[in-house]
Amino acid sequence: MGERSEKSILIAGAGPTGLTLALELARRGLKSRIVAKAAGPTPIHESRALGVNARTLTLLEASGVSALILAKARRLTKFKILAAGKPLATVETESFRSRYCPIQILAQGETERLLLQRLSAFGIFPEWSTELTTVSGDVEKPVITLQHANGRVETAEPDVLVGADGAHSAVRKAFGFGFPGNAIESRFFLADYRYAQPVDTGFIELNFLNPGVLGRLPVNEDTLRYLSTDADFETRIEHPAMVLERTWSSEFRISFRHVETMSRGHVFLAGDAAHVHSPAGARGMNLGIEDACWLAFLISEGREQEYSSLRIPAVKTVLKDTRRNTAFITLKNPVLTGLRSRLLPLVDHLPSVSTAFLRNAAGQDTPPPPWIPGAQ
Ligand SMILES: Cc1cc2nc3c(=O)[nH]c(=O)nc-3n(C[C@H](O)[C@H](O)[C@H](O)COP(=O)(O)OP(=O)(O)OC[C@H]3O[C@@H](n4cnc5c(N)ncnc54)[C@H](O)[C@@H]3O)c2cc1C
Repeated sequence: MGERSEKSILIAGAGPTGLTLALELARRGLKSRIVAKAAGPTPIHESRALGVNARTLTLLEASGVSALILAKARRLTKFKILAAGKPLATVETESFRSRYCPIQILAQGETERLLLQRLSAFGIFPEWSTELTTVSGDVEKPVITLQHANGRVETAEPDVLVGADGAHSAVRKAFGFGFPGNAIESRFFLADYRYAQPVDTGFIELNFLNPGVLGRLPVNEDTLRYLSTDADFETRIEHPAMVLERTWSSEFRISFRHVETMSRGHVFLAGDAAHVHSPAGARGMNLGIEDACWLAFLISEGREQEYSSLRIPAVKTVLKDTRRNTAFITLKNPVLTGLRSRLLPLVDHLPSVSTAFLRNAAGQDTPPPPWIPGAQ
């Protein structure tokens, strides 16, 4: 497709959201400039997101990224739910009728590298170590300052400015977008362990400790991630093989926030810059990729002013779902945790409950992309 260059588009941020936006614009013949404060993509062993859902694979088919993801990713076949090590329920992903498995496992750093690979085919390369530091002008005519790694300071006046610059978005703050919401009380802990031999990576396990929870997720053929609300969780891990090393550990708090509007004038927000929530459900990266695909489609149609009204309902749906899932897994009251243990075994006998759960995990609870015929 020939290149159109009616508008100068500057994307601040080269995480999954910014890279997808630049790629989706490029495949429609629209060139953009993409800058990032980071020196490069997410290091693979520090990948926050691990789940690529079916909606993302549908969205990234046209750019060729889905085929690359599928060649590298691992299929999840089961979600196992336990209480104090005792099995309560199992949800099999094979029962889900869709072109793609609801969730495939691939480290965020790998997904970013595949997006970069396809982007480079259009001659677009992010300018790394380039930080948006200040803004002047207003949302109708944004003027931004970029600080380059060599100390050079540059002023740019793009026709369209997109803040895909993560949860602490400089674009969001500088242009005064509100970011209402709240943080939850529980702290979360994470540790990735690499083993001396390949381990079973086909399932996610959620073990309710009552109180607290210990999650086990695959990272790659010999590495597993453990997530917990219990600071002492590592003593409770039953390692499936000899540990070689703990490759990453982290501690984080969870906030649920989203902007009231995702655009003002010629300034747009996408991904974590516009919404943050709990990782329960593996939706964050996928939602940012979905924002980026919608924004690219709307810009190419000259309809970008519809972006916020079309995306905010999807954002609200995902925040509501992840809030409910997080409340469910972080229950502390012994009466409620006891009730949860009695109700969960019913899931095995209620196909409508597992279907709703898998549809949610697949990211198919938000409006399908209208530019992809028959998309789910
Ligand atoms: C423990 C954990 C597990 C998670 N698991 C999942 C999962 O399984 N599935 C899922 O979908 N999501 C998951 N997420 C969420 C996911 O990691 C994020 O939603 C995703 O990284 C957001 O992508 P983004 O591109 O919007 O922002 P980011 O990935 O944060 O990228 C922001 C980009 O902006 C750049 N930047 C920042 N400031 C500036 C500036 N001033 N100027 C220029 N550039 C700037 C950065 O350098 C970077 O390139 C998880 C999160 C956590 C914490």
